[in-house]
Amino acid sequence: MKKIQMVDLKSQYEKIREEVNAGIQEVIDTTSFVKGGKVVEFQAELEKYLGVKHVIPTGNGTDALQIALMGLGLKPGDEVITPTFTFIATAEVVALLGLTPVVVDVDFDTFNMSIDAVKKAITPKTKAIVPVHLFGQNANMEELLKLAKEHNLYIVEDACQSIGAEYTFSDGKKLKSGCIGNIGCTSFFPSKNLGCYGDGGAIFTNDDELAARMRAIANHGMVVRYHHDLIGVNSRLDSIQAAVLLAKLPHLDEYIAARQKAADYYNKAFAGNKHIITPVCEKFTNHVFHQYTLKLVDVDRNALQAALKEKGIPAMIYYPVPLHLQKAYQDPRYKKGDFPVAERLMDCVLSLPMHTELDEEQLKYITEAVNEFTK
Ligand SMILES: *Cc1c(COP(=O)(O)O)cnc(C)c1O
Repeated sequence: MKKIQMVDLKSQYEKIREEVNAGIQEVIDTTSFVKGGKVVEFQAELEKYLGVKHVIPTGNGTDALQIALMGLGLKPGDEVITPTFTFIATAEVVALLGLTPVVVDVDFDTFNMSIDAVKKAITPKTKAIVPVHLFGQNANMEELLKLAKEHNLYIVEDACQSIGAEYTFSDGKKLKSGCIGNIGCTSFFPSKNLGCYGDGGAIFTNDDELAARMRAIANHGMVVRYHHDLIGVNSRLDSIQAAVLLAKLPHLDEYIAARQKAADYYNKAFAGNKHIITPVCEKFTNHVFHQYTLKLVDVDRNALQAALKEKGIPAMIYYPVPLHLQKAYQDPRYKKGDFPVAERLMDCVLSLPMHTELDEEQLKYITEAVNEFTK
């Protein structure tokens, strides 16, 4: 059996080696390393795939989120609502810009931000909501859009884990994750569903004016060369990463299908196990399984993790500490106990290996080991 990894990038690479190598070689041959042809080409291909008007490539997903908030012109003191159960970058950029992160709890079933909690968190100072489509499943965008309209708020989607996921509105209209709110942000970090071979990210929007402003901010606030209209940053996708992404984008739908197939195997194998709650999928979205995350019921998680490790099976805790309990984010407004769902999740979640190259032999081995320990 092939060695089991959380993410198997090497086996994936072997299947697209020629396209990737040729693309990288072309970048070197043309010495167009930055803002070059490949970046422009990838931008256009991704716009087509997503059905969105503007894709703005950035240096990474965190920068994408920061540039999005800068593009909206938010000012210190403005409140931005984010879920407490997420990767730190979502709130980090809010804090960095001097904005006030307002943390809300999540739904136990889906790990995504609770709509009721968002409703209660809105104040006259609220300017934006940043939903995270955690683990690859879209948050309830229809409800969030209603709230945003009612209270005149922006929505910046953190789609770093959900690229390619599809949202279906109650009228049947379908939109891709990250292309639903005012702005969407994604990451091409190697382990993400569309990963490059280093750092990378992108911003999505259908708003021409916002797009122009964010494109300028990502490039030192420059519109005409050496004329700086805005205070910006330097954040760009480089051409070598764009070449890798151009080779991988045509495979994204296959990659998603492979993840869904592995998730399906897991779901079936754990179906009768009372100690395991498998991922719950909402009707309004599909799930692209950036992570396959179980909730354990009356199981010693450390002991399970150790037993799996003994058998060569990695398993990870995403996330062990929610935002409001992180040292750097201590805030007199929040204390332990304020977000009971996130605090319950942090003690019972366990993510199993999830990637495009899992085969049945591996899945059988993993699920048998988990069932054997927990049943
Ligand atoms: C990965 C990730 C980010 C940050 O992306 P980077 O490219 O690593 O900067 C932000 N938010 C979420 C939810 C992520 O998973």
